[in-house]
Amino acid sequence: MRAEVIAVGSELLLGQITNTNAKFISSRLAEVGIDVYYHTVVGDNPERLAETIQLAKRRADILIFSGGLGPTKDDLTKQTIAQQLGCELVSDDEAMETIRQYFKQVGKVMTDNNKQQALVLEGATVLPNRYGMAPGIAIEKDQKQYILLPGPPSELEPMFENEAIPYLLHVFGKQDIIVSKVLKLQGIGESELEVRIQSILESQTNPTIAPLASPGMVKLRITAKADSEEEAEKLILPVEQEIRAIVGDYIYGVNDDTLASKATELLLQNDWSISAAESLTSGMFMAELGSEPGIGNALKGGVVVYNEEMKIERLNISRSLLDYHGIVSAECAEALAENVREQFGTTFGVGLTGAAGPESHDGQPPGTVWIGIATEDLETASYKLQLSGSRNSNRKRSVQFAIHYLIQKMREKKEVKY
Ligand code: ATP
Ligand code: MG
Repeated sequence: MRAEVIAVGSELLLGQITNTNAKFISSRLAEVGIDVYYHTVVGDNPERLAETIQLAKRRADILIFSGGLGPTKDDLTKQTIAQQLGCELVSDDEAMETIRQYFKQVGKVMTDNNKQQALVLEGATVLPNRYGMAPGIAIEKDQKQYILLPGPPSELEPMFENEAIPYLLHVFGKQDIIVSKVLKLQGIGESELEVRIQSILESQTNPTIAPLASPGMVKLRITAKADSEEEAEKLILPVEQEIRAIVGDYIYGVNDDTLASKATELLLQNDWSISAAESLTSGMFMAELGSEPGIGNALKGGVVVYNEEMKIERLNISRSLLDYHGIVSAECAEALAENVREQFGTTFGVGLTGAAGPESHDGQPPGTVWIGIATEDLETASYKLQLSGSRNSNRKRSVQFAIHYLIQKMREKKEVKY
């Protein structure tokens, strides 16, 4: 089954909003095994929408529309599709009642154009909208499925999940259970990951494996189809083990785990404490850990030492070290980590120093970052990053890498395995 996602709205073409609906719909369709071959965006224009429908009909079995179901003049998705399919638009009683109730509740007068929202294609399955007024519509015509959903993501997302997906699975007689497991990686790029697990990627049909990259992080989604959840999990397990055997060192967690949640879990489990001395990230590392519930039992505190004098005064970094090695150096990062750990009396101390950009700093090109990690009993380690993003993206990624290296150090300390 091939689907095409058609987002309707001039706002999208003008660059005023991002087409998150297409992303959402696609990712959910991938999980249920429906291929998406095209994303189309078309403005609020009936001729161009009609052309889009003609084209999509030739290359897709399922056409999913987002937007243009509202009450205003520019909302013409339903009208155009009705015309294209040669169907009438009829008022849906239940939808009309929802709209009436809404106006009663907010004490506003219902205008005539609002009745338009209750119009559906004759003979269609109405997909109720629990978060707004315009219902969704699903209809089959000439062996093609048409699904129409309202534009606001707060309405579209639950409707797609709770109404459209079950509708499609029902229509196509799929009773399979779909189970996904996401492996989260840090410290490896998407292309390197793909190369290293290429043979696994190529040989898989069930489960399927999809690498997903978002800024600064790589994920692998393993999706299995089976008759039961248990069966699906049984299919996932050996593939996961195979992947872990190759890139296990980079996998910090699964599903909803984040680097911060994983680090916090390890700190708390082992009764460890932590402190940080931050220069370029000016507190972001601590803020990231601070967002985790329960971290108060592990995060004792830390210091932001942005300028050189403060590094010397507050953290006893020697002036000669800074003069000799520089502020952006392994030696400085290690001294920050060691001295903050000592001052705060913690199991781990983390030091962050670098040139966030866009300018060079202390002779180091923008994006050069050093992370130091000191521990009670292991040798202090430092790691160099050479980032290429904007100032703030470099700062955020520095935090992610610092937590990544911290997790590695924690594993080393206790030989903790994920
Ligand atoms: P409404 O009844 O709110 O007018 P509608 O179905 O007519 O809903 P549109 O008018 O096309 O939908 O869009 C309404 C709002 O929904 C937009 O202003 C935008 O905020 C959001 N939206 C529309 N399309 C998308 C999209 N593809 N991705 C993300 N958001 C979208
Ligand atoms: Mg609208």
